Amino acid sequence: KEGVYLEVQTTLYDQNDHLIFIRDVTRLYLLEQMRKDFVANASHELKTPLTVIKGYLETLSMFKDSLPASMQRGIVSMTDQSQRMEHLIEDLLLLSRLETNEKREEHQWHSIQDVLETIERTVKPIISENHTLTVSVPNDSYLYGAHSELYSAFSNLIVNAIKYSPNGGQISVIWENNEHSGVFSVADQGLGIDPRFIPRLTERFFRVDKGRGSSTGGTGLGLAIVKHVLIHHNAKLQISSQPNIGSTFSCHFPIDRVRQDAMLASVAAN
Ligand code: ADP
Repeated sequence: KEGVYLEVQTTLYDQNDHLIFIRDVTRLYLLEQMRKDFVANASHELKTPLTVIKGYLETLSMFKDSLPASMQRGIVSMTDQSQRMEHLIEDLLLLSRLETNEKREEHQWHSIQDVLETIERTVKPIISENHTLTVSVPNDSYLYGAHSELYSAFSNLIVNAIKYSPNGGQISVIWENNEHSGVFSVADQGLGIDPRFIPRLTERFFRVDKGRGSSTGGTGLGLAIVKHVLIHHNAKLQISSQPNIGSTFSCHFPIDRVRQDAMLASVAAN
């Protein structure tokens, strides 16, 4: 995109005068654009070779029993790692789409209960018997937005609550309709986060504990995705946490995107 990009800032100089700062940020903007294009293209190019590797791995797995133990372990490890790489590529592509505003999904009314029921079904396999997951949504609560984006944001928060509660505990998923907003929150009784790190959590690839992320299979992109999805829905993320006590991640959606209305059931279904 051609043109000049300017950043304008104004500050009150004394009682009547303002200072205006104008900064040419064209180079910065173009560099950022190049970075986004590179990440999108590289992620896309990685998909094809990975599909081929996964295909051969599946074939090899079928003959696993006839192979020596060390090779069997190798196949399991390669399958796990290729799965991890697939998640990473999917997350990078989703983040690129969100950042570049490309291929945007149409916004519609969605039943929050339906979205959360689907997530509940997919997270079941990773919940241990020490976890208790409760979901509370008032009947006929609807949210106006992009289904797959909301699904990604909400499931990232729920999966994180499970991953970072290694000793189990209560995980409460709540939707509340307030006077000025609709609030989706996920509270856990897990590891918690040192307050110093909270402002950095939504940065790409940021992890409080580098080792923690890789052992839990995370990509470090989950909260960056949550942040961008919320920006697209004019919503805000609030994080409160105490180390070894637990964390609460809340998404505040503006009231014009929220309805508690049985009539919307038919709109959402069509
Ligand atoms: P990851 O793929 O590593 O989970 P995220 O972007 O989802 O990446 O989260 C970034 C980091 O924030 C995580 O690595 C973890 O250190 C911390 N984090 C996120 N959610 C929680 C939580 N519910 N409890 C404790 N720490 C969390």
